[in-house]
Amino acid sequence: MGRPQYLRVALLAFAALATCGISLADGDTQPGRDPKQPIDEAYTAKIRKYTTQPYFSSPLVDYLPADKNVPTPEVVLGDVAGAPGILPYAEDVYKYMRLLEKATPRVKVFSIGTTEEGREMIAVAISSEANLKNLEQNRERLAKLADPRTIQLNDAEADKLVAEAVPVYYITGTIHSVETGAPTALMELAYRLAVDESPYISDIRDGVITLITPVVEVDGRDRMVDLYKWHLAHPKDFYPPLIYWGKYVVHDNNRDAMAVTLKLTENVLNTYVGWDAQVLHDLHESVPYLYDNTVGDGPYNAWVDPILVDEWQMIGARNVADMTKFGMPGVFTHGDFDTWSPGYLMFIAAMHNGISRLYETFGNGGADTRERTLEPDEYSRTWYRANPPLPKTLWSQRNNNNYEETGLLTSLHFFEQNKRLFLKNFYLKSKRSIQKPAEEGPAAYVLPSDDPRTTVQADLLRVMFKQHVEVSRATSAFTVALPVKKEKKPAKPAENEEKPKPPAPTTRSFPAGSYVIRMDQPYSRVADALLDYQYWSPDDPQKTPYDDTAWTFGELFGVQVARVTDPKVLTVPMERVTEIPAMGGVQGEGTLFAVENHAEPALATLRYRLKDANIDAAEEPFQVADRKFGRGTFLIRGVSRSDLDAATKSLGLRAIALASAPSVKTHPVRTPRIALVHTWLSTQAEGWWRLALDNLKVPYDYMSTQALAKIPDLNARYDVILFPPVGWNAGLTNIIDGLPMSWGNPLPWLNTPETPNLGKIDSTTDMRPGLGWEGVAKLQSFVAKGGVLLTATDTSQFALSLGMANGVTAGSSEKMKIVGAIVGTRLVDAASPIAYGYDEKISAYCDNGPIFSVNSLLGSRRRHLGPDTNTRPTGRGTKDDPDFVIGRPAAEIPEEPEREQWELPAPTEEQLDNNPRVIPPTGRARVILRYADSKDLLISGLVEGGNDIAQHPAVIDVPNGSGHVILFSIEPIYRGETENTYSLVLNTLLNFDSLNAGRKNADK
Ligand SMILES: [Zn+2]
Repeated sequence: MGRPQYLRVALLAFAALATCGISLADGDTQPGRDPKQPIDEAYTAKIRKYTTQPYFSSPLVDYLPADKNVPTPEVVLGDVAGAPGILPYAEDVYKYMRLLEKATPRVKVFSIGTTEEGREMIAVAISSEANLKNLEQNRERLAKLADPRTIQLNDAEADKLVAEAVPVYYITGTIHSVETGAPTALMELAYRLAVDESPYISDIRDGVITLITPVVEVDGRDRMVDLYKWHLAHPKDFYPPLIYWGKYVVHDNNRDAMAVTLKLTENVLNTYVGWDAQVLHDLHESVPYLYDNTVGDGPYNAWVDPILVDEWQMIGARNVADMTKFGMPGVFTHGDFDTWSPGYLMFIAAMHNGISRLYETFGNGGADTRERTLEPDEYSRTWYRANPPLPKTLWSQRNNNNYEETGLLTSLHFFEQNKRLFLKNFYLKSKRSIQKPAEEGPAAYVLPSDDPRTTVQADLLRVMFKQHVEVSRATSAFTVALPVKKEKKPAKPAENEEKPKPPAPTTRSFPAGSYVIRMDQPYSRVADALLDYQYWSPDDPQKTPYDDTAWTFGELFGVQVARVTDPKVLTVPMERVTEIPAMGGVQGEGTLFAVENHAEPALATLRYRLKDANIDAAEEPFQVADRKFGRGTFLIRGVSRSDLDAATKSLGLRAIALASAPSVKTHPVRTPRIALVHTWLSTQAEGWWRLALDNLKVPYDYMSTQALAKIPDLNARYDVILFPPVGWNAGLTNIIDGLPMSWGNPLPWLNTPETPNLGKIDSTTDMRPGLGWEGVAKLQSFVAKGGVLLTATDTSQFALSLGMANGVTAGSSEKMKIVGAIVGTRLVDAASPIAYGYDEKISAYCDNGPIFSVNSLLGSRRRHLGPDTNTRPTGRGTKDDPDFVIGRPAAEIPEEPEREQWELPAPTEEQLDNNPRVIPPTGRARVILRYADSKDLLISGLVEGGNDIAQHPAVIDVPNGSGHVILFSIEPIYRGETENTYSLVLNTLLNFDSLNAGRKNADK
């Protein structure tokens, strides 16, 4: 499709205009059917019947063109797209797309991978026959625009390619399984694009390759269709909520575009990049009637090219205008969604030099037609919503399909009309990504080869590979200049002049083998966005961040990442790597093997893999010859050298053979029997824990609170119970009671012929019951008899509410706003096995975590110590003089012991006297980790009012009977991004029966 084709399109459009006799001031083609093409009368009549008001439709979708060779969606659906009562399974959607492919040369279907449960994902390309014939040639052109290095950044050459290339507009549907309209809308859209001969549609067909993934979350779609069918069969009953979407996560599947841990993200990312597409347009349904949230609100992501911001505004504004002109109410593009986080699926495009777009349309969570009443903030007229949705209306899935299709068709048409502009922009954004080192910088990110956490470094690099980022490895050592920091002018001459600080280093050296992520590559943007730091000002006018405010991967993974601005780094000899070179294995001679502990999650995998070996953990640092080993080092016996070599090599861990056993105190590192517990309220947060454990090959039994409550003797089956966060601020009553049982019907989540896709991950005859008081008693007895219960955020508060953690209280703060941020924490008790392998400073993910306080007295609030209570009372003399009482000598005031916020205050003599509430030393809370001081709390993101949590405990080990309750205020396992803190959980698992190692019990 070179120039002649383009000319032909223009001529066709002109001819069409002439025949219709319409003159358009802006030169655009008029939307609407071609009167010469017959329509499918029956289908068209049904479209009109299912549309609840004429103004919920448009001239683009209020008819269906007929083609005797091409089947309409009716052949698969049995009715029209968006018909009430009809939700197709993914398989049916695919069946239809493949029927289209068979019937017309304008459609091609591609398999793009499978889901975690093995279901297929597809992409459907629709364009003119000529365009689809020349896909490969076109891809070559697009690939050159995507990587301008291939044309030496030559703008003239780019212009030639821009004039010849056909752009790719990629549309993705139903990533959120409860948002159900997209698949049928996209079936019909594919049909229209393939069949409709109106000039408006043939413009699109000839000028653009439309690529469609009709179902992104395939596993979740099939479950949703099951549920909807159950609902149709039981129309009077409440139907079960969709508790599982994908195998692991629910709504967060649209937060995975950074770490790329889910198959759906990987498959869409590979398709987007593989096609060198220009747009990724993701369809959602949670706002009436069409909110193009692409433009949304600030703050915008700081790493996107301003050219993209202009594109968002251009397409968004035009989209609103076009649909408003059709008389469709409730179409707008500004709103409260901020475009800060790059975690959304659509952001794959924004981070790879394309255009990200997202529609929120209106859906009924199924295909029922329902009377819908909106909230005032949904129907109010605002400056950006001049034609708002109606306060109350009858809404159908057909209405939804009309909006989705009309929005997409007007977008596709506008995009087609301006495709040279957008293709040129695509080239310019790619070129500017390559020019980053010379323009805004940095020149590169360097991951030093002497980072002790090699396996975690490798995991971070693998994320880069998944993002299609080029990674190189320096073949020799090198040194770069560090940026000169501007000295801050002192506000006032300081009174007590501190000693002058030693001059800051001006260079930094890296050893050979260090990884270099060059910023002179087309996808530098995504690497920069993931590895850089975020700062969200507490004064930002945006007061409700839509999602996390920080994601700095070096900090979340706990891996050294140097941002290098010195362009000299690009001249260092290096070679490109596409996988992590093999490392690890056994070195030295001997039958006892030591594996150092750097809090690498791979250690847990090693422990489970060598299940018959004897592994001990060193409780103190030790030295062999001149080699130093830290606390928690694995000492391995009873395994052959070759088996250990194979295991450590595959994991990237290094084992050192020792000639003799070091004299150091040790305890066994065992493989606990683990239960991972979920509620039937939400599986969002715990899914990330399952995913992490599955990837690490740490086995566990997965069960609901209901199932746990039915196990007669938990200790007979389990050593550790993991109770990850429930989410949605689920409190004590929610967890115990579940959903109301006094009314309503049972909510089954079962694998039956009626619901063949439900019940596989877990199942129940009734989702309503919670843990129950019987379950509470079981949990309490489990811990008292020696079990370990590990909780985080809301489940920690749950354990506290039940009195399972003596001497610990949790508070909250109105002033504090830590919104998905990265905070500094400090190791308090390095001798605890939970802390093995960690350095003193640990960066952690925190989302307004509970504020823990510790005490040595039961049920007592901590007495506040500090300068404000120690000031002298009103009386005689100067501030530092003692007061006196007339007629007697001055009394000596006893010294108050000073305690830090995270330290247990030892009970005073007064408190100890005849006081059954004093917790004996062996029963007191042991603080493992605390939040950093206020000034060091913010690492990345938004931290406001952090003073209220600064210095408070962040991880606590509380003895309870013979067992332990472990409490987390931070979130240790989250969205596949927080590998730095995984080992706090994994250490607890592996040392479950030796958690008291290194514990100091005596009162001072
Ligand atoms: Zn959604």
